[in-house]
Amino acid sequence: ADGKKAISFQHLIANGDLIIVYERHDNLKAIKVCDGSELQNRFGVFKHSDWIGKPFGSKVFSSKGGFVYLLAPTPELWTLVLSHRTQILYIADISFVVSFLEIVPGCVVLESGTGSGSLSTSLARAVAPTGHVYTFDFHEQRAASARDDFEKTGLSNLVTVGVRDIQGEGFPDEFSGAADSVFLDLPQPWLAIPSAGKMLKQDGVLCSFSPCIEQVQRSCETMRLNFTDIRTFEVLLRTYEVREGKTDFGGSENGSPISSLPCKRRQCSSEIDNNRGDNKYSTAVMARPSAEAKGHTGYLTFARLKCIQ
Ligand code: SAM
Repeated sequence: ADGKKAISFQHLIANGDLIIVYERHDNLKAIKVCDGSELQNRFGVFKHSDWIGKPFGSKVFSSKGGFVYLLAPTPELWTLVLSHRTQILYIADISFVVSFLEIVPGCVVLESGTGSGSLSTSLARAVAPTGHVYTFDFHEQRAASARDDFEKTGLSNLVTVGVRDIQGEGFPDEFSGAADSVFLDLPQPWLAIPSAGKMLKQDGVLCSFSPCIEQVQRSCETMRLNFTDIRTFEVLLRTYEVREGKTDFGGSENGSPISSLPCKRRQCSSEIDNNRGDNKYSTAVMARPSAEAKGHTGYLTFARLKCIQ
């Protein structure tokens, strides 16, 4: 697949396409569509040939009547299904990084380490169609696996993977003054920060991800030498379960703890009719934090290269 096709997903599912098969929110897998192959799961047997020609997002049925959804391999979904060769960045941090690094189509972005390519996949989409991501990891096998993944996801024309010790050698000189943004996810990022500064264009932005605050403090000390606007964030994703239910005007819903949480009350017209204007009950949209809420991943420190007058 070429990059444009991989990013737009406007086409119909074709033989050879990578798709994400969605069984439930916690059960997704990446599959290459292959005419003649079958997917077997607890919902039955699904023939790939039945999927060809369908739009992404289709609900497809097995011979037993079970169903799955065929989704496009967006960066968000790829992050959920990729094989973990390292710790990875998840979408809450990723979206923050792309936004605060001010990455737009056409940008040149440098990254290290590549790891499992979770962040790189979103960076590639953000710079498409004319920009490029150059990502470096000192682990040859990891770099090779990431290259294979970018081939699979159709992003290899937007991402180049290099093998290099970025903490020891810095980024290659050929990128001096050429990068719009630099992202570091390294164990000792302060060693790579001076090189990141050399690579950035005037006004370029650096971001460093670190799991612990001691690393952040050390990175900030180094950043202060030639960066400004240094800011550290921790992104904590809180998922809410949202549902609609009946409640009375006293605000309690059969003693359920959900009733004490923020709720948006909405008058239900059929109830008013039935009760001839007696508005004792209404429906309400209620939300409570999900039990699956994720905790700390790391700190994101952003800094802008100081302008040289
Ligand atoms: N951000 C990545 C993602 O979302 O998939 C995960 C990065 S992973 C936590 C850190 C990576 O940095 C590892 O793959 C490791 O091999 C690489 N690394 C560690 N030290 C390095 C160095 N000195 N130069 C280049 N890469 C390095």
